[in-house]
Amino acid sequence: LQRVTVIGGGLAGSECAWQLARRGVPVTLREMKPQRRSPAHKSDQFAELVCSNSLRSDNPESAIGLLHAELRTLSSVILGCADTHRVPAGDALAVEREAFSAAVTRSVREAPGVEVVPGEVDLLPDGVVVVATGPLTSDALTKDLERYVGEKLYFYDSIAPIVAGDSIDMNIAFRASRYGKGGGDDYINLPMNKEEYYRFIAEVKAGQKLQPHSFEEPKYFEGCLPIEVMADRGDDTLAYGPMKPVGLKDPRTGEEPYAVVQLRMEDKAGTSWNMVGFQTRLTWGEQKRIFTTCVPGLANAEFLRMGQIHRNTFIDSPRLLGRDLSLKAEPRLFFAGQITGVEGYVESAACGYLTALAVYARLTGGEFVPPPATTALGSLYRHVTGEAHPPDYDYQPSNVIFGLFPPLPGRVKKADKRARYAERARADMATWLPSVPPAQEHQGTA
Ligand code: FAD
Repeated sequence: LQRVTVIGGGLAGSECAWQLARRGVPVTLREMKPQRRSPAHKSDQFAELVCSNSLRSDNPESAIGLLHAELRTLSSVILGCADTHRVPAGDALAVEREAFSAAVTRSVREAPGVEVVPGEVDLLPDGVVVVATGPLTSDALTKDLERYVGEKLYFYDSIAPIVAGDSIDMNIAFRASRYGKGGGDDYINLPMNKEEYYRFIAEVKAGQKLQPHSFEEPKYFEGCLPIEVMADRGDDTLAYGPMKPVGLKDPRTGEEPYAVVQLRMEDKAGTSWNMVGFQTRLTWGEQKRIFTTCVPGLANAEFLRMGQIHRNTFIDSPRLLGRDLSLKAEPRLFFAGQITGVEGYVESAACGYLTALAVYARLTGGEFVPPPATTALGSLYRHVTGEAHPPDYDYQPSNVIFGLFPPLPGRVKKADKRARYAERARADMATWLPSVPPAQEHQGTA
């Protein structure tokens, strides 16, 4: 089989290289460490955890825990090494980071047919290539990538929180779009009176924020400033910005509220809603406290994702990639990991796994069969290919969340939802497994 170059020995590149090697594909893995490091990478090992040592919840009734379980079933090297080097952390899968990364490094280096070539890649090489250089892809390679993806390369995530639709109090909220445009009721609006608005602004100003990393000198686009930056510019800035009430009449009063929080549909089924313009560096705890206590209609909100802002290189995958995660304009180039717009250690590894299957299918003339939409892997795939989102969706990175899954059929009690998602995913995963090309025995994750 043809040799494949994987660029980047992070979470995605390690998983991808290992899965290819296990299927007999020779791999050249090019990693710029130790000669060169991103501002966040410190160690010389592969699969470095640049921040927390937690791979998040291992509860199979959470979306991330379900992804763990699926990756275990598929003999992921990242999950295998994480399990081996697990440290107690409640229901989270936390690891001893050095030992974990060392184990992944050993597994990848020892895998048959893997050749590791250190040094920064500044120009994309010839042949079949997997780009897995992550959120802090080096500047030179980013520049070269621009030749292929043009302006569709982003450097910052400005992520707004997402709320579960069925946790919004619709006795307070009302459906409408400004001046009745579009469908007339495309948005959910949470109305505020003057007093509520100024209380909210005071809380946002006083709330605890995360400090940017030293390499994340904030250079915000004027069009997507964090709410606290707008609040600091003046108490009324938000009321003239994302919280402006113009063109929105509260049907209960027949009047325009003083301000509104608007929520836009995140998935076609309307199970999850994005708080428009609410990107923020408030800590997650502060976001929950301030939004549930100060925004009418969110008292019992279930947050599927919290707001964040950090440096992140990613491409507009739904528009640029084909269904096998290769570039439509240059199909020999595949992408894996955070650069595709998945977010998180495990999601990146999961994406590396899927890209390995897609590359393998290309090299062998086989068919790449994506995982069922109802599985955690499939929901991530649907995110990257855009199938989970409305057509005009402004693509932003996402962790695996139940909001990316197709909704459950029929009426399901809120308390039963997670179990039902997990049950359905397990059943559908079992039907997909026979289409996964077999690999040599799972080995080398100790
Ligand atoms: P990475 O793991 O970053 O791997 C990319 C690799 O490519 C690196 O080893 C890099 O050295 C190499 N590389 C880059 N450019 C080149 C080049 N030109 N040539 C050769 N090699 C190159 N996720 C979480 O789940 N939890 C967290 O707590 C968390 N904290 C984060 C904190 C920061 C500061 C950042 C930036 C990200 C954080 N993330 C976190 C996200 C996390 O980085 C990703 O989820 C994950 O590491 C992405 O995996 P990846 O394989 O796509 O990229």
